[in-house]
Amino acid sequence: MSTPTAIDPSRCPLCGQPNRCAMEVQRETGVAQPPCWCTGVTFDATLLARVPAEAQQRACICQVCATAARNV
Ligand SMILES: [Zn+2]
Repeated sequence: MSTPTAIDPSRCPLCGQPNRCAMEVQRETGVAQPPCWCTGVTFDATLLARVPAEAQQRACICQVCATAARNV
């Protein structure tokens, strides 16, 4: 049961771009970050449903995808 593509928690599982999640930035740089923007938005259930099962709870959706979904 090997996964062909490793999940990169620093990249958006929907578009593959860096999600710049504050929690990941903090882990990378060791510098404390302000609360991530993602803590202040509500992710639509249909948007979350598009995230591959193996990436759920592991990789953050980027701000672009999250806001795009809200503007539909
Ligand atoms: Zn994205």
